[in-house]
Formats: sequence, C-alpha cells, structure tokens
Amino acid sequence: RFITFEGGEGSGKSTQIKKLADRLNATKLRTIVTREPGGSPGAEIMRHLVLSGMGKLLGPDAETLLFAAARDDHVRTVIQPALNQGTWVLCDRFSDSTRAYQGSLGSVPAGIINAMQRVTIGDLKPDLTIILDLPVEIGLQRAATRRGGATPDRFEGENLQFHRNLREAYRKIAADDPERCVLIDANADPDTVAGRVWTALRDRVLA
Ligand code: C5P
Repeated sequence: RFITFEGGEGSGKSTQIKKLADRLNATKLRTIVTREPGGSPGAEIMRHLVLSGMGKLLGPDAETLLFAAARDDHVRTVIQPALNQGTWVLCDRFSDSTRAYQGSLGSVPAGIINAMQRVTIGDLKPDLTIILDLPVEIGLQRAATRRGGATPDRFEGENLQFHRNLREAYRKIAADDPERCVLIDANADPDTVAGRVWTALRDRVLA
C-alpha cells in the first residue's frame, strides 16, 4: 500500500507519518517511511539544490523539472521496489505537493505538470492521501519553533498570503479527489491527530 501525507509548513507531517509507521510496524505490516523532495541518494542532492538559495537561480519551469528528476529517481529506486515486495510505503509529500506549490502557487502551466507526472509516476497512484489542514498562523508558528532561530528555507520564508493560498490549494485537491484524499483537522495535539489519521486509514484502506 502506498500512503502519502501532504500539508503546509508546520502541519505535522513528519510527526504523524512516524506515528503511523510505528503503529503499522507494531501490527507486523512491513512499512518504510520516505519523503520528497528527496528520499533516495540522488534525489536528496536535488532536494539540497532546490531548498538552498541555489534554487532561486532557476526559473519555475527548470525548478519543476528538478523536482521531477528527483521524483523519478525516488520512485524508481525506492518506492516501486518496496511496493513490489509488498512493503507499505508512507511518503512525506508526493505529487500533490507539485500541484499545490508549482502548479497552483507557481506559474507552471498544468500542461507541463501533467506531462511531468506522466513521465515520473505513470500509473502509480497513492491508495490514500492524508492532507493535514490547519490555520496557517499556527503552522508557521510550529515551523518556527522547530527551526529554533535557524533561517527558514525558501518556501517557509514566503509571505502569509502564499501560505493561505497553499492551504486553499490543498483543500481544493482534497475536494476534487475525495476517493483518494482525506482532509484531516491537524489543529490538535499529536496523539489526537494520529487518532484521526488511524481512523481514516482503518475505514478507507484496512476495511
Ligand atoms: O516537507 P518539507 O518541509 O521537508 O519540504 C521541504 C520544502 O520544499 C518545503 O518548504 C516545501 O514548501 C517545498 N516544496 C516545494 N514543492 C514541492 C515539494 C516541496 O516547494 N513539490
């Protein structure tokens, strides 16, 4: 099974993904956790390029192609081999991040995004996508606390309106594909949110 987690800055994706992996592993379901951009040695190099100041040297299309190259490597070397062995794959961000960040918020045309998705993921579709939703002020506050004074990455450092638009983009993705996506209220303590995630998984994937 292939489960993806999506959401804005500070939405708690990595905390929730870890909690879910622990729970699945405890039930003897073999599970790996991975993330994008990155997740394979080659893709982690590209992650560094886009998230550091170097990404700013690229135009939006070139940057999107770099994300695509990273995804291609990640799918081919990590995600697909694990799924082929029957291992559960939990992925922190996947193709909906591209649609939200580069598509809705960037100026990258849908045609380019769609072509890129065809090449990188083909028919691979998550069995479930958990979209963690919370007010942007709270998410940014959490992200800042986690960073502990370090400089925000180039996307975290965008203005409030950027993050509000991002939240809307994710809510639209959830509304447009309700069979695959579940929008989860992430404005609660981690264990409460983990309970909501588990309920969604139980009802939609394990049922
Ligand atoms: O999930 P995480 O915070 O590690 O993601 C790293 C950064 O990459 C985030 O700031 C996110 O905004 C950005 N990103 C992006 N486009 C993607 C995936 C991630 O701008 N397709």
